[in-house]
Amino acid sequence: MRYAQFTISKNALAHNLGVIHANLSPIAKPKVLAMVKADGYGHGIMNVIEGLAAADGFGVACMAEALALKDACDRYDIIKPIVLIEGVFSEAEWQLALSHHFMAVVHNATQLNFALDAAPQSGSPTCTIWLKYNTGMNRLGFQAADIPKAAQQLHDKGYQLILTSHFACADENVIMNDQQITRFNTMLAKLQQTICLSIQGSLCNSAGIFRFPHAHHHWVRTGIALYGSTPLADSTAQALGLKTVMTFEAAIMAIHHLQIGESVSYGAIWTAQKPSRIGIISAGYGDGYPRVVTNATVVIHHGNKQYRTALIGRVAMDMMAIDLSDLSDEINVGAKVTLWGDASDKLPSVDDVALSAGTIGYEVLCRTTHRPTRILTP
Ligand SMILES: *Cc1c(COP(=O)(O)O)cnc(C)c1O
Repeated sequence: MRYAQFTISKNALAHNLGVIHANLSPIAKPKVLAMVKADGYGHGIMNVIEGLAAADGFGVACMAEALALKDACDRYDIIKPIVLIEGVFSEAEWQLALSHHFMAVVHNATQLNFALDAAPQSGSPTCTIWLKYNTGMNRLGFQAADIPKAAQQLHDKGYQLILTSHFACADENVIMNDQQITRFNTMLAKLQQTICLSIQGSLCNSAGIFRFPHAHHHWVRTGIALYGSTPLADSTAQALGLKTVMTFEAAIMAIHHLQIGESVSYGAIWTAQKPSRIGIISAGYGDGYPRVVTNATVVIHHGNKQYRTALIGRVAMDMMAIDLSDLSDEINVGAKVTLWGDASDKLPSVDDVALSAGTIGYEVLCRTTHRPTRILTP
């Protein structure tokens, strides 16, 4: 069988949620919304839900994801609020949110009217609305001038409110973060004083959790940190105490000896400068390894030894090549090769691969495809 495999560690997910818990403000004691959108950041919702069962709720981007998540929760007897983090996209979806008891963000007047026109049964989680305030990212949310009225209308209809907003630059240490925090705090205090003292707040994503403990409020929303990839531009996942969740392995499926001047793979972008022994391995961009990456490190396993070498030539859909010239002849067809894994085992991390691809771990994880087998380990 072609060997291309993602191994997903349930313990690492639980450990990373523990790291988040350990970093929560002891004063605010916020609840934790585990973000599992984009099929659990590419891991597969069924593969992540058990490891994250200790979260206080789960966040998804759309109704289809909420319904898939609900199936996963039902399967594992997990009863936690599910939050539609972009709200509903139609009145029919609002009705679905009501019948499935999903919580929803309200970020515009259309969604506000759905909520005002058709209220949930009392006691339903849908009675809590996440009211989105645009503090500067300019993606979603009401402007400052429109928040108080929307909040008052929802409050008058019997909804409980969580004022929510999202950082534009939390991965970096920049002044804009402070501006967003100040705007958020000012608005939350105003709503609490003028409408209802029990209105809650939610501002921080993973990066914000590590950087701004004074801004944790009532709920934090964490995604990337749970999956063991760094949320910060200036710190590794390892330095934050996060464990690797996903390991990507393939195997050597062919070996060739090339003469000086011979090349490998599309575009012939790599040419042997000396007589070379090369390996072809069984994964490519069709599995989720970024095609733009050249020269990245991979680790070959032989017995209990590990050998580091470089990718050579262009990553193809199903295969890529590695240089074996300076390595033991014992490495042969069938040897396992780690493309990303646990940095503490001296393996390249998904963040290393992302850096080589000019992107971030989030994107590399989300772009993993369904072709490799996914194995859930304890
Ligand atoms: C995805 C998302 C998060 C989680 O962000 P991370 O950087 O992965 O922690 C938080 N809030 C909102 C609104 C999101 O869409």
